[in-house]
Amino acid sequence: MNEYIQRIIKLTEQKNPGETEFLQSVKEVLGSIEEVVAAHKEYEELSVLERMTEPERIITFRVPWVNDEGKVIVNRGYRVQFSSLIGPYKGGLRFHPSVNQSIMKFLGFEQIFKNALTGLPIGGAKGGSDFDPKGKSDNEVMRFCQSFMTELYRHIGQDVDVPAGDIGVGAREVGYLFGQYKRIKDAYEGGVLTGKDICYGGSLARKEATGYGLMYFMREMLNAHGHSLENKIVTISGSGNVAIYACEKAYAFGAKVVAMSDSNGCIYDENGIDIELIKQIKEVRRGRIKEYLEVHPHAKYMENTGEDSPVWTIKTDIALPCATQNELTLNSAKILKENGCIAVGEGANMPSTLEAMEYFINNGILLAPAKAANAGGVATSAIEMSQNSMRYYYTFEEVESKLEQIMINIFKSSYEAANRYNCPGNYVKGANIAAFRKLADAMLAQGIV
Ligand code: NDP
Repeated sequence: MNEYIQRIIKLTEQKNPGETEFLQSVKEVLGSIEEVVAAHKEYEELSVLERMTEPERIITFRVPWVNDEGKVIVNRGYRVQFSSLIGPYKGGLRFHPSVNQSIMKFLGFEQIFKNALTGLPIGGAKGGSDFDPKGKSDNEVMRFCQSFMTELYRHIGQDVDVPAGDIGVGAREVGYLFGQYKRIKDAYEGGVLTGKDICYGGSLARKEATGYGLMYFMREMLNAHGHSLENKIVTISGSGNVAIYACEKAYAFGAKVVAMSDSNGCIYDENGIDIELIKQIKEVRRGRIKEYLEVHPHAKYMENTGEDSPVWTIKTDIALPCATQNELTLNSAKILKENGCIAVGEGANMPSTLEAMEYFINNGILLAPAKAANAGGVATSAIEMSQNSMRYYYTFEEVESKLEQIMINIFKSSYEAANRYNCPGNYVKGANIAAFRKLADAMLAQGIV
């Protein structure tokens, strides 16, 4: 490996001990840009990699709130403002008990590259809390969101930092966060958050954007290799925002989705997943995926027992991990291959372990990497921001056609970079190189900042 890259990986390990997810994402990116770094000596002279792997700012804060029993609970809040090289910090908020600084930093780091790939003027950030909205009443969620925003508001703004949703943060949470921001600021700054409800400044097609965008990228990738989605069998992990709309679009492209999951287990329906029922269970009732069997008793349910999700043991042509990081292990990757899987599309951020990614690439399975394949969400958030600035709304069709074009462009730049750097079909490398070059150029142009 290139000496400069080796040195930076070592330095990152020393400076961020125990931050396994962050180190994993840094290794994945740096490990794939060797040729570019070797060809540009000025990157080393001007410490481009040192700067790119160090967040501009990390904010952590106490979030006290009162539960329905009158008890005071204290959670920890985070905002990692990773890079403002090409636009205001931009990236979602995650509310999940697993949230820690390493996860926030890996997500913020990934976000810089993803946002660069969209071609839109947005920097990279991520935030959230170890608060778990699951099982909480609406009032508890509201009180938590209000307390969280009472600190966060001073660090964000429509030209400074624009948060959005992620795991555990959907339209309900964004609404409570926006309400509190507006109350504190006494101003209607519509573009300060994205993922807003349509009735107060949200964008049509934002809810669908990440899942739909994933399928547009998948369509382009399959077409480039002589395949199509028509009549393909698809399995999806997760049953949240990304998973649901990936499923909907997979059907629209003529595929059949036979499995979905949540953090307890997965369902297999050989007749094809009833997506309207999944929406009812997960989006409306906030229930468990197991409840699917109450309406479709012929379907099978498999409980999660260990590290490997049962959803990847089901025979499929295309696998779409859309739940969380490191949910697809080397072991699962091998089972997918044995079962004839031809392509994997990462809807979640960093869902495949490094070993699983390597296995896919070395064993002829097409891999649509998260940074490129799930960028449709943030791209549509940027379209939401522009609508807010213009005080104007696009129709659903207008937003979706912009999304489609952005995903086609992201595929093209990943494809071209992969070919230019002698790794055709390796979209992990292609996407990382295309994004890195753009960021490095912006960094050099702006001087030592
Ligand atoms: P949601 O909260 O809507 O859904 C998450 C889904 O994943 C749920 O089904 C959840 O199950 C499951 N899940 C969460 N954590 C785990 C876990 N540790 N093990 C197994 N299953 C788990 O989140 P999103 O759909 O918004 O996000 C999913 C992924 O996509 C994340 O990686 C996110 O960062 C990424 N992403 C999201 C974007 C967006 O626009 N929303 C944009 C780009 C990336 P349960 O219901 O049991 O909690």
